[in-house]
Amino acid sequence: MIDPNPLLERDGLPSFSKIQPDHILPALTHMLADNRAAIAQLLASGTAYTWENFVQVLEDLDDRLNQLWSPISHLHHVVDSEAMRAPYEACLALLSAYRSELGHNQALYAGYRALADSPLYAQLDDTQRKIIANELRDFHLAGVDLPPAQQARFTEIQQELSRLASKFGQNLLDATRAWQKHFTDEQRLAGLPDSAKALARQQAEQAGLEGWLLTLDLPSYLPAMNYLDDRALRCELYQAFTTRASEQGTEASWDNGPVITEILALRHELAQLLGFSQYADYSLATKMAESSPQVLDFLQDLARRARPFGERDLAELRDFAQTQHGISTLHLWDVPYYSEKLRLHRYDLSQQDLRVYFPLPRVLDGLFQVVKRLYGLRIEAQDGVDTWHPSVQFYAIYDAAGELRGHFYLDPYARPGKRGGAWMGNCRTRKRRGAQLQNPVAYLVCNFSPPVGDTPALLTHAEVTTLFHEFGHGLHHLLTRIDHPSVSGVGGVAWDAVELPSQIMENWCWEREALDLLARHYQTNEALPAALYEKMRAARNFQAGLFALRQLEFALFDLRLHSEYAPGADSAWVQTLLDEVRQTVAVLIPPAFNRFQHSFSHIFSGGYAAGYYSYKWAEVLSADAFAAFEEEGIFNPDTGRRFLEAVLELGGSREPLALFKAFRGREPQIDALLRHTGMQS
Ligand code: ZN
Repeated sequence: MIDPNPLLERDGLPSFSKIQPDHILPALTHMLADNRAAIAQLLASGTAYTWENFVQVLEDLDDRLNQLWSPISHLHHVVDSEAMRAPYEACLALLSAYRSELGHNQALYAGYRALADSPLYAQLDDTQRKIIANELRDFHLAGVDLPPAQQARFTEIQQELSRLASKFGQNLLDATRAWQKHFTDEQRLAGLPDSAKALARQQAEQAGLEGWLLTLDLPSYLPAMNYLDDRALRCELYQAFTTRASEQGTEASWDNGPVITEILALRHELAQLLGFSQYADYSLATKMAESSPQVLDFLQDLARRARPFGERDLAELRDFAQTQHGISTLHLWDVPYYSEKLRLHRYDLSQQDLRVYFPLPRVLDGLFQVVKRLYGLRIEAQDGVDTWHPSVQFYAIYDAAGELRGHFYLDPYARPGKRGGAWMGNCRTRKRRGAQLQNPVAYLVCNFSPPVGDTPALLTHAEVTTLFHEFGHGLHHLLTRIDHPSVSGVGGVAWDAVELPSQIMENWCWEREALDLLARHYQTNEALPAALYEKMRAARNFQAGLFALRQLEFALFDLRLHSEYAPGADSAWVQTLLDEVRQTVAVLIPPAFNRFQHSFSHIFSGGYAAGYYSYKWAEVLSADAFAAFEEEGIFNPDTGRRFLEAVLELGGSREPLALFKAFRGREPQIDALLRHTGMQS
């Protein structure tokens, strides 16, 4: 081992600048061995298990492992390097082996059961009981309590499913990469904005070609569909895109059809081994939603309500395309194109006009003022903290009583070697051992364009919203009062409830009173003009009906796929089900060649199987929760305190529905979401 290894220093914050690729594997190997020895010792101790000598010990081992791993995986995402990749991959394999070993450890499972059955259980508090309940549930879902033969089959299915998920993704990637279209005549690309044209030029250069190259990668495909004037070319692109990895493709071995039916069959078998009748029930066992009929009702109800608005959106679009552009039949490859034209025609709003009002330093200051007014928080930048990049800033959060609640790193700008998108990451979780309190620490990561010269970073309004969203996750993680890491902060929060604290924050980005705190022209210091604000508000719900129906189509297809499956179902069944969903939900039925399901990665190679509904589910929660602020004042400190105490501080220590009800005084209702998206009937 390289000595001293900064990853094995365990006081204080990670020493990012000292961590070298060579440190990673030895540190993790060392700690996994240590943890395994500690667990073996725990299981051999022979004493009766108590919270302190059993659960607490396991929580501590897990917490220190997370603290070691967190900076490693974080560095991999924000300052990736060739030297880092191999040890990182090796660590991932070790970690996954360790976790699966623990998840299948009969003696550990027996330990939790013994504690749950012992008289000591009655003396535990709600949070402790929730942790034990979660553990028993997860052991069961990992197949620990199955008879040996079934357990072997269970493991086999899991391995096979993980192979198929990656096969699905690989087929899609190969099929996407295999298609490209080369142009030497710039006229064919008429309508395409300069940035998209520059990308097409760059893609051609990389392929050693003159001219321009269009591909099916999203950064190339989306602008092409939005802006290319050439209708036949858009049609060609659409067909290529929506038949990727299907039987209509050029390469038969990339067809995801058989992969899909195999995945569905194995998921069904896995669920049945655990005693569920359908895979959807297995998926929902860890979620806030109670049952698949409940989710089905929820989605169908929303679809019924959204449909007239989707029909209206489509009628308006058809009318616009007909009267302004002489298009008599609107096809799916025309929808994005004329939608962009209609948007421009109606709102004449460019993101560029808005950007000058959102310089990052001002936006941050405004964001901090928003949470000061809501929750009484004081946020202070702290210098001199070791980070991974000079542009990273470190902050401390103090509450209204002056108590330090946590810290966060903010890494705002895009740069080479940094993964795209925005996210909140867990650096350290709140934990109390006796008098010792470990405060939580978060990473907030965005990919804004960096400042140029004297001009500060100027954000689009969508980027401001993203910052608020991730900050909401951050507050959830940092303001927790729960002292046990596995259900503290975002720990142990159900998948379909975890977006409540983040999505609710986005609402303040649309309120005049809040915008006055965060929007100022970066040169003139002028507030956001009323006319611009009105346009922004008006454009907010452009085609909200069409958008909602598309999301609902995906969600209904996913849910029904995993709750109506019968053994032996084939590709034709999958297609029939999708067609059926479209008949009831879609306002514009896709052409028969469309094979959307073959690229539905969320549910076949991501973690969203029977979970795609979560997007809408969480939107209902966040819109309804924000409605409380609308009713009582968007900066009402009492409402803020209630949200803080009922939701943000309790993390995963209670059922999410109970937390929501404690805040709202009733079950969630969908009215606010409909109102916010302009779909009130
Ligand atoms: Zn989120």
